[in-house]
Amino acid sequence: MKARQILHPADAKALQVLKQERGFNTLIKYFMKVGEERIMHGENLGTMLRVSPNNMPKVYNAFQEVVHCVGIDEPELYIYNDPVMNAYTYGDTRIFVALSSSLVERLTLPELKSIMAHECGHILCRHTLYKTVLHIIEDMGKAAQVITGSLAFPAYCALQYWNRMSEYSADRCAAAVVGEQVFQSALLKLTSGLSDIQGDPYQLVEQGKRYYEMKNASFFARVQQACREMFYSHPQNCQRAYEIDRWKSSANYRTLVRENIENL
Ligand SMILES: [Zn+2]
Repeated sequence: MKARQILHPADAKALQVLKQERGFNTLIKYFMKVGEERIMHGENLGTMLRVSPNNMPKVYNAFQEVVHCVGIDEPELYIYNDPVMNAYTYGDTRIFVALSSSLVERLTLPELKSIMAHECGHILCRHTLYKTVLHIIEDMGKAAQVITGSLAFPAYCALQYWNRMSEYSADRCAAAVVGEQVFQSALLKLTSGLSDIQGDPYQLVEQGKRYYEMKNASFFARVQQACREMFYSHPQNCQRAYEIDRWKSSANYRTLVRENIENL
């Protein structure tokens, strides 16, 4: 798989803007210089369970299949104890993927592969370095306050916006690896927090359509919703469902699915 096959135009455009921000490169250099990546590695080893063929063979094998399908070097895989279904990937030279325990417990294996493929999509598109920087800033509450009150604030806002757009590219990777319907069912579970949802797997796509109708009904509604969305680190799940539903008829999606079937 090639990054250009899954890169969402909004992600590519936002990244371009981000690279032009003067404060951005300074931020990256600073955080990598202080050894944040090593600190994260210590934290992973210290507080999470590293997945291996011995302790969780099904999860480990599924991860290897996804990594092979996406065509990236195998990152380290960890599971952390959390009732909230979530996953993330960080790192620059030592990249890792972390899955919450509730994801592993509540999703089917294909749905779990969709989350793994989403994270691997971030790695393929080389999102992880920038995401690491954002994570560090947010983790350091005081630093975030300094940044929001300083000249680096535009860079921080650009970074946040890009972060939201990068999720669309990673979602495309997930849909390409497991098929868009499995992606939609995983997203339904992530949204509800439940392990079993009845009915149409495209419920969130419909909600997305309703959301955009409501948002685009007036100028005031657009501004109101845009201001609310600004504070999210991810696009809302109904927007993610809607975006993938639009992308499923693209040539890139069809080619990737065909290639995946041929490579099985
Ligand atoms: Zn993501």
